[in-house]
Amino acid sequence: MEFHKSSILSVRQFDRESIETLFALARRMKKIARRAVRCRVLEGYILGSLFFEESTRTRWSSEAAFQRLGGGMINTTDVRFSSMVKGESLEDTARMAGIFCDIIVVRHKEVGSATKVARAAGKPVINAGDGPGEHPTQALLDLFTIMEDRGSIKGATVAMVGDLKHGRTVHSLARLLMLYGVKYIFISPDLVRAPPKIVRELRGNGFAVKETRDFEEGIRKADVVYMTRIQQERFTDPAQLKVVNDGYYRLTARHVSRWCKPTAIIMHPLPRVNEIATDVDRLRQAAYFRQVENGVLVRMALYLLILGKEGKFV
Ligand code: ASP
Repeated sequence: MEFHKSSILSVRQFDRESIETLFALARRMKKIARRAVRCRVLEGYILGSLFFEESTRTRWSSEAAFQRLGGGMINTTDVRFSSMVKGESLEDTARMAGIFCDIIVVRHKEVGSATKVARAAGKPVINAGDGPGEHPTQALLDLFTIMEDRGSIKGATVAMVGDLKHGRTVHSLARLLMLYGVKYIFISPDLVRAPPKIVRELRGNGFAVKETRDFEEGIRKADVVYMTRIQQERFTDPAQLKVVNDGYYRLTARHVSRWCKPTAIIMHPLPRVNEIATDVDRLRQAAYFRQVENGVLVRMALYLLILGKEGKFV
């Protein structure tokens, strides 16, 4: 895979070699992210931070990463910003962002929206979530965290828990992990099982996928427990939302000590609602705040590679 001038729209673009390149560079970003080393390599560059759908972490992380490297940005601080209110098309807005910016991060509720933006903008675009579609940078930072915490992912059993139907981070991570020899356990209420298309894709590529509703049974065997919230904003039927809510999962410190392998790590793309009790936070296995820190490193590395600055950052 070629990073330079490329858009990052899906995890399908990646191979193991490109991931190694990205992660090696991300590790070198630690000092700059902590401001122990000052770096202005992106001075004069402008990031277009276009969030048409709510975001906290991804937006802050994408913007912080760019600014840590000395870049500037323009953003949509309000999802109802002017062009949307006036009825401008996504393509026209993207075209304009392409005039002002050198690289664009976009989140939008429609599947495929990032691809549209990339076509219209003519500048590299990073998909920061296209509705229930994909969220490639989240999957990259998730994988980076697994590698940093465990040293390797090979042979690991990964349990993904919760709203697997609508959770785009699950869709991206499940696909990305196909590059490695993992086993999958999907734990979810019936109404929000993983999309059959993804399950077929994984199985078709020779991966073992177990689907269950049983939380305890599922997480006992896992090396990675990837919790997710109910994506309530994607439900059109309140009755269905209630059914899913009633049968939802909650991981507590007691569960972790009684059920999980001592070496298992607990992940979550955040925000959490109730699915991880706060008493889990103090456990060594809790990796979700490390995921947030790692997100900045991975995004910094990605900007450098896309903008061709990877050899010039010190
Ligand atoms: N922050 C993640 C996302 O944007 C996960 C979530 O919202 O549940 O997909």
